[in-house]
Amino acid sequence: MNEDFLAFNVDLAQNYKSESQRIRILSEKWLEQYGSCPLCGGPLTKYQNNKPVADFFCTHCKEDFELKTKKKSFGLKTSGGAYSKMIERLKSDRVPHFFFLVYQDYRVKDLFCVPKYFFTETLVEKRKPLSANAQRSGWTGCNILTNKIPNSGKIFYIKNRQCFSIKDIITNYQNTVFLKEQKQCSKGWLLDIMLCIDKLNKKEFCLNDLYQFESLLQIKHPKNCHIKDKIRQQLQFLRNKNYIEFKGSGTYKLL
Ligand SMILES: [Zn+2]
Repeated sequence: MNEDFLAFNVDLAQNYKSESQRIRILSEKWLEQYGSCPLCGGPLTKYQNNKPVADFFCTHCKEDFELKTKKKSFGLKTSGGAYSKMIERLKSDRVPHFFFLVYQDYRVKDLFCVPKYFFTETLVEKRKPLSANAQRSGWTGCNILTNKIPNSGKIFYIKNRQCFSIKDIITNYQNTVFLKEQKQCSKGWLLDIMLCIDKLNKKEFCLNDLYQFESLLQIKHPKNCHIKDKIRQQLQFLRNKNYIEFKGSGTYKLL
């Protein structure tokens, strides 16, 4: 596939004046044409008439997907719509998988999918209600804290204009599918440890490397008096799920 497919078809948005509307149309059309389901590799179908649940679905898996688009980079956070709606969706387990698309000069630069089971309330930041003067006064939005998503939760399709094969995408999705079975509280701990491993930024690490995060984790989990035990327990779990490999003498390898 040549690089041209990364370009938005700008002709499709000729009739829209606002830039944000144009980008919405163009990025949705682009994803409909070139995106695929990370579970089965099948095509994505757009929901009609602004259905509130999601933007796309896979006809094969019946999974829902929502698209977030941003210029240049997602940075630390991105707008997630109404706060109450997001929390309600999380609690009822109706949260979709999220596609994050980064564009520059009307071309796709990055595209990754965050599987829905990576979403917990800690990823959702409540924003200040809109002021009394605002058109939608009192409306409270939220941000999705993209910097709190572990690397393994970002299933890349395109990274800096380089494409990943659908085989790799499906494998990367399957690598963390074990999170789906976890309850919110145990998932919180696992995601914390996955983020700590990311922060080490090395393929092999030892137990002592992770113990450095003891005080940080203690702040996050004030009721837990055995943080080190908890770290070891999570590592054991991640090892059993083939997320990491135990190399002996307290050394682990990220798979
Ligand atoms: Zn599918």
